[in-house]
Amino acid sequence: MMNHNLSSVKILDVRVDRVTMQDTLNFVSSSISNGSYHQIVTVNPEFVMKARKNILFRNILNEAELSLPDGIGIVLASKLLGKQIPERVTGVDTVERISALARDNGWRIFFLGAADGVAEQAADILRSKYPGIQIVGTYAGSPRIEEEEGICSRIIDTKPHILFVAYGAPSQDIWIARNLNKIKVPVAIGIGGTFDFIAGISSRAPVWIQRLGVEWLYRLFREPWRWKRMLALPHFAALVIYSRIFKHTQN
Ligand code: UDP
Repeated sequence: MMNHNLSSVKILDVRVDRVTMQDTLNFVSSSISNGSYHQIVTVNPEFVMKARKNILFRNILNEAELSLPDGIGIVLASKLLGKQIPERVTGVDTVERISALARDNGWRIFFLGAADGVAEQAADILRSKYPGIQIVGTYAGSPRIEEEEGICSRIIDTKPHILFVAYGAPSQDIWIARNLNKIKVPVAIGIGGTFDFIAGISSRAPVWIQRLGVEWLYRLFREPWRWKRMLALPHFAALVIYSRIFKHTQN
């Protein structure tokens, strides 16, 4: 499905593109000028583990026009599989960088998802950070099918170039795949908890912790109720090592 020349790596049957942040921004720019609609997914180890049990989700990840390496686990896995991804491209950083670019280019952005009022709070913070940015709509809503039509017409009314969807995985990515052609948005991205980070509701690890590649440990410490979800990480690591040893030709 990729309409660009970037190479990719298959990690436990999920395609991740070997892109940098700059490649990602270039992809967004060209997507907005080329007139069709593009889905971007931000793959971390939890996504890969969910995709093993959810074929619809796996297909959506594999068919997305761009699949970003979000998470140190993905970068390490790519290295182990012999096709190293150059850097981590996280949802939070991508939203920030796209916002700056949108301001410079006059692109309209719509924020969908997160708890009531959080998208608006995040929008206000980005408006003061990037004065002139056109955030043309914010709406919490929910990924429930009954709400879909109403949400789509809100989006269509504001004609955004970019849509950020914060419903968590896999709901956000399934929502985008199902509605992208209807809402006719050039670039739509599932961004997980990014509005919560921007609005300051959850805090990101200090940069030195991010650099050490242990942001996940910080998150576990701050939000211990995630421990069960995070068991996916050692499981992911074990499966990647297994596939490295036993399936040499996976890629
Ligand atoms: N969320 C939502 N509606 C839902 C489920 C989740 O708006 O039905 C939001 C939630 O408020 C949060 C984001 O989706 O802002 C998911 O955050 P999380 O960190 O759990 O994302 P993940 O790690 O699953 O990508």
